[in-house]
Amino acid sequence: MTAHILDGKKLAAEIRVEVKKGVAEMKATTGTVPGLAVVLVGDNPASKVYVGQKEKACLEAGFASFLHRLPASTPQGELLGLIERLNGDPSVHGILVQLPLPPQIDPDMVIAAIKPEKDVDGFHPVNVGRLMAGLPCCEPCTPKGIMRLLEETGLPIEGKEAVIIGRSNIVGKPVALMLLSKSATVTICHSKTRDLATHARRADILVAAIGKPRFVTADMVKEGAVVIDVGINRLDEGLVGDVDYGPVSEKASWITPVPGGVGPMTIAMLLENTLHQARKPEA
Ligand code: NDP
Repeated sequence: MTAHILDGKKLAAEIRVEVKKGVAEMKATTGTVPGLAVVLVGDNPASKVYVGQKEKACLEAGFASFLHRLPASTPQGELLGLIERLNGDPSVHGILVQLPLPPQIDPDMVIAAIKPEKDVDGFHPVNVGRLMAGLPCCEPCTPKGIMRLLEETGLPIEGKEAVIIGRSNIVGKPVALMLLSKSATVTICHSKTRDLATHARRADILVAAIGKPRFVTADMVKEGAVVIDVGINRLDEGLVGDVDYGPVSEKASWITPVPGGVGPMTIAMLLENTLHQARKPEA
């Protein structure tokens, strides 16, 4: 079997067109321009790239974009002060603090300081709790993008074996909850999992969010599985996912490429979340 490609770049472009229309409609009917504030502390090269991509996408969609670049030495109190100001600024509907943060800053405190109604990343404990409880919430961008990609396959999720490799708060755990809410039977694997390949081989839906280049090899994949590669690994040869793409695409029924799979969807979901928050009366 040769896999169909789950083209995240194409789907993300379609979503961005829809968001742009939504922004224009909002401007025309209410006079409000949705605003996203992005805060970058320090100069982590990957973070700079992500922030640049987010700002560009924001402007293309017609949002107001407020970029705050702070030096790596910024004290935590100063960052919390900025967040407080952004929380109270009516032109800002979404606040995103790019992670990771420098060591003197506690990311949990910073995330908790963002007003949940302005948390477009879906990382605030209120949104995490609501996701856990199955209540409406701002869903985190990468897992939400993964679910959209799975929808694109047209395959049902109910009753399927879903195996997620990785248990981070930003990808592994939330995508597990979202798959569970669609009635998949979910297994979460991590670095202490014994005989990981046996778990992986059971998967109808296999999500790799590990951060290790080409970790998932063809022998770990069931014939016909849907394979979602979240990994972004920067090697000399370029960007590489967590899945050994060539051999795995000979076995999978659907697969996301890297780049051009989950990555562009993450940004599209960020825009969608920002528009959604801006539409809420309390934002
Ligand atoms: P984390 O480093 O937070 O988590 C990695 C997870 O992989 C951990 O749960 C870890 O297990 C697990 N893991 C590590 N080594 C192994 C192993 N040998 N066997 C099994 N499990 C292992 O990463 P993130 O979730 O933040 O990101 C994962 C990848 O996805 C990265 O490449 C990142 O760049 C990418 N990413 C891509 C995004 C996109 O938009 N495309 C967005 C976010 C991330 P344990 O918990 O036991 O340590």
